[in-house]
Amino acid sequence: MKKFRVVIIGAGIVGASIARILSMYENFDVVIVEKEPDVGWGVSKANTSIIHPGHEEDPNKYPLRAKLCVKGNQMWRTWAEELEIPVKWPGELMVFTNEDEEKQAREYIKLAQLNGVPGVRVVYGEELRFLEPSIGDDAKGAVYAPTAGVISPFEAVIAIVENAVENGAKLLTEAEVTGIRVYNSTVKGVETTQGFVEADIVINAAGLYADKISHLAGVELDFYIRPRKGEYILFDENIEPKPLKILHTVPTHITKGVYAITTVHGNVLIGPTAEDLPLEARDDASTSVKGLDYVYREATKLLKKLPPKSKIIRTFAGLRPEPPNGQWLIKAYSNPWGFVNVAGIRSPGLTAAPAIAEYVVELVANTYDVKLIRKGSWNPYRHDITRLSGKSLSEIDDLIRKNPDYGEIVCYCKMVSKAEVLEAIDRMMKIGIKTITLDGLKFRIYTGFGKCQGSFCRWRVAKVVSDKLSIPYYDVVVKKSSYGIGEIKILWSKKVGEENEVSKV
Ligand SMILES: Cc1cc2nc3c(=O)[nH]c(=O)nc-3n(C[C@H](O)[C@H](O)[C@H](O)COP(=O)(O)OP(=O)(O)OC[C@H]3O[C@@H](n4cnc5c(N)ncnc54)[C@H](O)[C@@H]3O)c2cc1C
Repeated sequence: MKKFRVVIIGAGIVGASIARILSMYENFDVVIVEKEPDVGWGVSKANTSIIHPGHEEDPNKYPLRAKLCVKGNQMWRTWAEELEIPVKWPGELMVFTNEDEEKQAREYIKLAQLNGVPGVRVVYGEELRFLEPSIGDDAKGAVYAPTAGVISPFEAVIAIVENAVENGAKLLTEAEVTGIRVYNSTVKGVETTQGFVEADIVINAAGLYADKISHLAGVELDFYIRPRKGEYILFDENIEPKPLKILHTVPTHITKGVYAITTVHGNVLIGPTAEDLPLEARDDASTSVKGLDYVYREATKLLKKLPPKSKIIRTFAGLRPEPPNGQWLIKAYSNPWGFVNVAGIRSPGLTAAPAIAEYVVELVANTYDVKLIRKGSWNPYRHDITRLSGKSLSEIDDLIRKNPDYGEIVCYCKMVSKAEVLEAIDRMMKIGIKTITLDGLKFRIYTGFGKCQGSFCRWRVAKVVSDKLSIPYYDVVVKKSSYGIGEIKILWSKKVGEENEVSKV
């Protein structure tokens, strides 16, 4: 049996899912190549986090999206359980406030039937208010889709990569792909900022940059990805009432509408906007007064009582990788042989990712004549970090008796202990992450996600990192640049060669 060396470009939800499926088979040696210091820092990090039911995809216009969305929704039920990814399945209500909207919303019931999405129906009056007591007074009715879910998207990527690595895949971070080497119309590997990585098959799952990678391979030269910005408002956990269901306005031709949800971490999230940006603006994740005002206004159609603005703890934006015609570009090429595009994966890419991955592996097998052989040893399970949060006092007591580091709280908003920081660092090192960033820890153990947004815990987490890695505070990295405690003082005094008190804390 020939073993194919596969390089996957991009450790987002799509690349990670493909790696997990490939790791099930004897046929492949998998390397995921990622330009960032960590996984899941692209589009997959900042989105609405909905596992869509699939009734919003028109199978006549977008057959692949429709099919893989419905299948992805089903697959997440198994994947989230096997990998212990935070998820819930509250169902969603597409809220209409007048006859025009009602007419549009009812069209989705037809699509639900075409796509085989179960249980989709219209609800009114008492039933609507029973399903969602916090619904706005102007709501006339809603299309109810009971199979919708909410997931933690960044934890999903982390969990999937951990599992893929457990099953033999390798991760190369801080390696930006700068070229695709092709010889005799056959791919040979990828040039990266960390050198050449050999490959028989190269899978392009580079999110917002997938068009550029495709051009490097010499295919789909007319294909461009447009960043479409979505801005959000995140409220404190400590507000009432929180929506029980996923609520959203009726979709438009470019968006699925504005949502109001309770995230898996208990915050209320409203958004997004939908704004097409110039092609070159792929790093512009800024938020604007205009965008946030729009989100707040639209959300008042959904909820009886919006939380006050004083309860906002964060605003953020994500960029959708919008392909020219809304179609996902999933294709395996014979020229160059071995190059596969999984490009333009706009919404519902998060929902569909596991199904996209299965589809891509079948496509690879069919196109390149690979007879798939299942590994006997493949392990579907991954356990989440042991967390204090949500545990009873006696369980916490047990943990502290076994390991006193559980008794040292570094983050009070999210009740995170030093032991959790250490476990997260170990896991990051285990999957091959070279730089332990405070952002990477935040996505694993929620330090900095709470009400104080890190003002209490950040230096405490940095201290644990500094001690564990034996590096000075000022070398601990937040995202890409160093943090430094009392950074101005430290960096300044370091510059003039002075010793200082703070760096010795
Ligand atoms: C505002 C918004 C709301 C959304 N809401 C939902 C939703 O509720 N439900 C849903 O199903 N979908 C939603 N989506 C869509 C979903 O988030 C995306 O379809 C999905 O995350 C795309 O994943 P990806 O892996 O293709 O891309 P990414 O997550 O961007 O992964 C690509 C990776 O490639 C890396 N990369 C890029 N260039 C290079 C290079 N040259 N070398 C090495 N690495 C490189 C990047 O750093 C990145 O990590 C939403 C998207 C947005 C922006």
